[in-house]
Amino acid sequence: MMHSSPVQILLLGGTSEASALAKLLATRRDIPAMVSLAGRTINPVAPPIAFRIGGFGGVDGLCDFLGERGISALVDATHPFAERMSANAAEAARRMGLPLLALRRPAWQAESGDRWSEVADADAAMQALGKAPRRVFLTTGRLELPAFLGAPQHFYLVRSVDPPEELPPRAKLVLARGPFAEEDELRLMREEAIDILVTKNSGGSATYGKIAAARRLGLPVILLRRPEMAEIETVATAEEALAWIERQG
Ligand code: NAP
Repeated sequence: MMHSSPVQILLLGGTSEASALAKLLATRRDIPAMVSLAGRTINPVAPPIAFRIGGFGGVDGLCDFLGERGISALVDATHPFAERMSANAAEAARRMGLPLLALRRPAWQAESGDRWSEVADADAAMQALGKAPRRVFLTTGRLELPAFLGAPQHFYLVRSVDPPEELPPRAKLVLARGPFAEEDELRLMREEAIDILVTKNSGGSATYGKIAAARRLGLPVILLRRPEMAEIETVATAEEALAWIERQG
């Protein structure tokens, strides 16, 4: 017989929104919950509630996990670009008949003074940089970096949490984890004489400083557009997600 575990909420994490929700849940011992991390970050910040690390093994593996752990509701608080995990969560919830909520920050919207070009992916961003050498601030994350090896004429200021496997020939690496303040971003971009920013449209406040700094410096920004996600109920804050969880009881 399958043993029944006390865990009921599965929170798919890896974002500051997921951390905020885990913090709220840590004060609510009446709501048993577990965070799941992919294991991409070498030294992840340990969540304040129960957690597990690593992939589930696709939709089938996730369904098994949900069944074995007696999960009763699923909160997908993965990054807006974690397309596969979100699709797997939607399919597993459908198969298992479980309620699913997405906790997802809204995309950034251009303001007056912004000089944005939106592109579909890292390859298109690399193409959009053009032929002439530029000084690029590249914050797309290390997994998108290989695309930029195809444009070695540019200088890249690469910022990521963990070191990338390979850097373009003219590159400087900054290892750092957000949040990043606008004034610090402004200073960094000035010091490195950056003339263009390449970033994902991640949304949220933790990494918005570079967008505001680019606007102040009058610099162009190449933004990777968000992937299309299945239409599921979505909230933007940890507080709203907690209210949803309370309603599942
Ligand atoms: P992805 O491409 O959508 O997912 C690839 C595979 O990684 C999934 O199929 C799943 O493996 C596993 N996985 C992803 N998130 C997981 C989680 N929270 N718990 C357990 N397994 C997970 O995802 P990704 O873009 O590589 O992102 C990985 C993690 O980094 C996510 O937690 C995400 O929130 C975080 N993150 C991503 C970005 C980004 O730009 N993509 C930025 C910041 C943080 P199985 O199929 O084996 O289950």
